[in-house]
Amino acid sequence: MVEIIRGTVIQSSDAVIENGAVAIEHDEIIAVGTWDNISRDYDTSQLHGSADHVLIPGFVNTHSHAVQTLFRGAADDRDLLSWLEEVILPGEATLTEKELVASCRIGYGEMLLAGITTTNDMLTANHSAAGLKAAEESGIRGRVGKMLMDRNVPDGLLAPTDEVLEEAHHLADLYPQGGRIQYSYAPRFIPTCSDKLMAESSQAARERGLMVHTHASENQKECAWVEELTGESNIHALHQFGVLGEHTVLAHGIWTSETEMKLIADTGTSISHNPTSNAKLGSGIAPVPEYLAQGTPVGLATDGSPATGGHDFFLEMKLSGFLQKSTRNDPKVLPARTVFNIATAGGAQALNYSDIGKIEVGYKADLVLLNPSLPHAYPRYDPFSYIVYTAQTRDIQAVWVNGNQQVSESNLVKDISPYFDIAQSYARDQPFLTRD
Ligand SMILES: [Zn+2]
Repeated sequence: MVEIIRGTVIQSSDAVIENGAVAIEHDEIIAVGTWDNISRDYDTSQLHGSADHVLIPGFVNTHSHAVQTLFRGAADDRDLLSWLEEVILPGEATLTEKELVASCRIGYGEMLLAGITTTNDMLTANHSAAGLKAAEESGIRGRVGKMLMDRNVPDGLLAPTDEVLEEAHHLADLYPQGGRIQYSYAPRFIPTCSDKLMAESSQAARERGLMVHTHASENQKECAWVEELTGESNIHALHQFGVLGEHTVLAHGIWTSETEMKLIADTGTSISHNPTSNAKLGSGIAPVPEYLAQGTPVGLATDGSPATGGHDFFLEMKLSGFLQKSTRNDPKVLPARTVFNIATAGGAQALNYSDIGKIEVGYKADLVLLNPSLPHAYPRYDPFSYIVYTAQTRDIQAVWVNGNQQVSESNLVKDISPYFDIAQSYARDQPFLTRD
């Protein structure tokens, strides 16, 4: 069945069709053009939108932790290492399978409502098969990986290196390259991963055409810890383990020297930029304009809910530009079109996708329909100004992933409300304080 979606079509940061329309069939975009042409060539009985709507490619979230949703609000106003050691790691160790699934489904549901159609998500050490299944059932597209760790974590998360790798390979077999949900190898960061775990997970990802997803240079204390453990700066240490390359996305990349930035560019490694998380944890501001100038693929991301408050791509877009403009006293840096690009096509490139992030024939039908009908949407001069500086998640009327509608009339098509009770009872008990 062909469905038609009408509106101003924002194909990419440099292509806009006023009064346009898109035809989708199965999982794919089969036609893009003016409303006159599409309505002439196709049956319009299945129609969404109008000339006043705005249609954009789904946002590509390059770094998230849906599994941390149950810790939202439990770890505020701390820096990265105390945030991790006091709440997040003990919290991940307490999650039962049922709680982990609830955490993931709320997180993915929240992302879909925010127009995020693809996410690059890290689970935790336990119940990873259930986490991957939750991602699949949510309807989102993504690269999802078990969190790989074999040192410096609480007992409940600790396992021998070979056991960790064995489970990772098994899950990679179940979610290979090409599916809506693909496995990714996700060593957390050097302090929680032995040299062997870093090196072998990266090698396995390369061999299977999958990605490596890890954290790097988010916080200055973390960088000092890595130097203590390896005798090298963070990015050089990752390079020695064979982690850098086109198959790898590094979350954060805030505290990188000029030589490290050059190494990232020379190896084709991608950067995931998390402005809200970096601001809330007081981590710093990533040198995004410099990465972009060197040709490094950069995508935008929401990180975990306890690090940001929630998954809101409009907030991420605003902050990514505003933080650079304000700290450099330069309003010209990261203009709206550039920010829109890193939120969509740039993120797709950072995650090695060639068929998402733009509205083009042959691309996956991952689409977000905005209804600019609330007071803040008037007037509109420029669609990129509206999307990046003005739009809010409540402007999102409909979302499709892989041709399937996941948000309709601003609500999730799949009911996730049964998971809310599990989340609220977890918050009441705060098991990360007491549970062994
Ligand atoms: Zn993270």
